[in-house]
Amino acid sequence: MDKQTLSFQAEVKQILHLVTHSLYSNKEIFLRELVSNASDACDKLRFEALDNAALYEDAPNLEVKVWYDETAKTITIRDNGIGMSADEAVAHLGTIAKSGTREFMAKLEGEQKKDANLIGQFGVGFYSGFIVADRITVESRRAGAKPEEGVRWSSEGSGDFEVETITRAERGTDVILHLREGEEEFLSQWKLKSVISKYSDHISLPVLMKKQKWDEEKKEQVTTDEWEPVNKAAALWTRSKSDITDAEYQEFYKQISYDSEPPLAYTHNRVEGRTEYTQLLYVPAKAPFDLWNRDKRGGVKLYVKRVFIMDDAEALMPVYLRFVKGVIDSADLPLNVSRELLQESRDVKAIREGSTKRVLSMLEDVAENQKDKYAAFWEQFGAVLKEGIGEDHANQERLSKLLRFASTTADSGVSFADYVGRMKEGQEAIYYITADTLAAAKNSPQLEIFRKKGIEVLLLTDRVDEWMLSHLYEFDGKPLQSVAKGGVDLGKLQDEAEKKQAEEAAEAFKPVLERLKTSLKERAKDVRATTRLVDSPACIVVDEGDMSSHLARLLKQAGQSAPGAGKSKPILEVNPEHALVKRLDASERFDDLAQIIFDQALLAEGGQLEDPAAYVKRVNALLTA
Ligand code: ADP
Ligand code: MG
Repeated sequence: MDKQTLSFQAEVKQILHLVTHSLYSNKEIFLRELVSNASDACDKLRFEALDNAALYEDAPNLEVKVWYDETAKTITIRDNGIGMSADEAVAHLGTIAKSGTREFMAKLEGEQKKDANLIGQFGVGFYSGFIVADRITVESRRAGAKPEEGVRWSSEGSGDFEVETITRAERGTDVILHLREGEEEFLSQWKLKSVISKYSDHISLPVLMKKQKWDEEKKEQVTTDEWEPVNKAAALWTRSKSDITDAEYQEFYKQISYDSEPPLAYTHNRVEGRTEYTQLLYVPAKAPFDLWNRDKRGGVKLYVKRVFIMDDAEALMPVYLRFVKGVIDSADLPLNVSRELLQESRDVKAIREGSTKRVLSMLEDVAENQKDKYAAFWEQFGAVLKEGIGEDHANQERLSKLLRFASTTADSGVSFADYVGRMKEGQEAIYYITADTLAAAKNSPQLEIFRKKGIEVLLLTDRVDEWMLSHLYEFDGKPLQSVAKGGVDLGKLQDEAEKKQAEEAAEAFKPVLERLKTSLKERAKDVRATTRLVDSPACIVVDEGDMSSHLARLLKQAGQSAPGAGKSKPILEVNPEHALVKRLDASERFDDLAQIIFDQALLAEGGQLEDPAAYVKRVNALLTA
């Protein structure tokens, strides 16, 4: 192929501009990104060579070499990994195939503190070379291709790039950075070495630099032609726990997660027995910006006997622990294991169960010993962890102990155990209410009687709560009971006198109830008297077996019509003691008042009126009467 000039994809131009301008204060990370690409390229070769050993040609020792040229002002990063064909160079270095470009850019533009880890997280690391270089030349030949099938790719990192075919004997890739004016600090053995060891100690292949020697005559260090490794080149997880410092664990975490904050907790174990594997798992302190993005990358990397097999091996972790990062290295799986095989493997099942338990113990430990840290974790990942209640029945009990809620007693951090510990004498159930917001939950009329009696109620406002509650019925033998479902039965919490009084009031109220039922027959399934209200005239409840109105609303918002959603009418409960209700019987506008009471009860629980204009009209008519 003759020399061709091609244009970068539009997004690449924007990314290039952003990366080079906003990450300048962190410019040394270009070396981490390029060394990590070199290491990825070697991993890919090792993987492809499993089926085709000929790809190693005559260079089976995979390595990265880094050197600089003071006169030409260049730094070269060379690897003998998989290499690129001309087409691959155009595709991988000129376009961005990944989704989420826009979120990434918005994030980078918006960040106060420009986060250099974002570029790795998003996978545009190569472009970081342009922070220090005003031209990058890439020369490459793919493993297995002929020497004449090499490629040279070159760009100044603005609008376009050039590609041409070259002859190249060596397999793999050279990335040559032509440094910008003013970036000469990188033309130093010491500088390059210190950046590489800072970021690349845990890369499992050697990064080589030229050895330096003291020259007696010149009285200075001179560079020899001998290569020596400048990183430890031992995959961290294979080392013994007692030899690894906390700082090393943290740096490794940064490298695999691209998270700028240290992890919340980690666990490192060698598991022996029927299945043998090593796990090094981290819980991040902060949710990634794409936690809710289904095709997000990352998670747990799978290695088999130290050979990298795949990223994001979802079969190794349940979905509700998708925020966990780390490495699992199996001694038993076949090297050519595919995603499909992973799903069926018994070893994988054992690894997954073992790893899940480890993560849960890690969280239990934080919850027990570092309450503030756990609160921060809950804030970030609580809603995700709740998915586990329905997904992982085997661990449901352990998970339920990790749950935290808001309640009428505390705005956050209430566990079931806390709640049970504060239960009133004679209280048999754990009471909760679901709503769209904390304010709506707190002000719900259904809570009035509980407030009056000093009974705590859990306030659930996450979208996933309703779903979670359809899988969780009790804690510690105490049933979970919605205060908005069915008739309230406070059981032993109500004394005989109260019960009697309520029954009498209900009896006396019967004729009004009958009239209300007739007025509201299109809208309410039933109308009944209640003792659950103190300050409000009425509230909406649903039957024990019916879907809560909160859930029906969520489903409607999500564009789903659930079986029976919106079809089964709610029940109106009225408070015979309320002034407005007491006035009903004698009112000339009974029908209007009945409709208003119903509409208000709907509004109070966060519902929407089908005909708001009619409601306004009725209220105004009353106000001006
Ligand atoms: P990422 O590494 O997250 O994919 P980068 O921007 O760092 O994103 O690299 C883009 C792509 O360019 C890589 O996925 C790879 O296909 C290709 N690439 C970069 N460097 C090399 C290399 N040294 N050898 C082979 N391919 C490379
Ligand atoms: Mg990369």
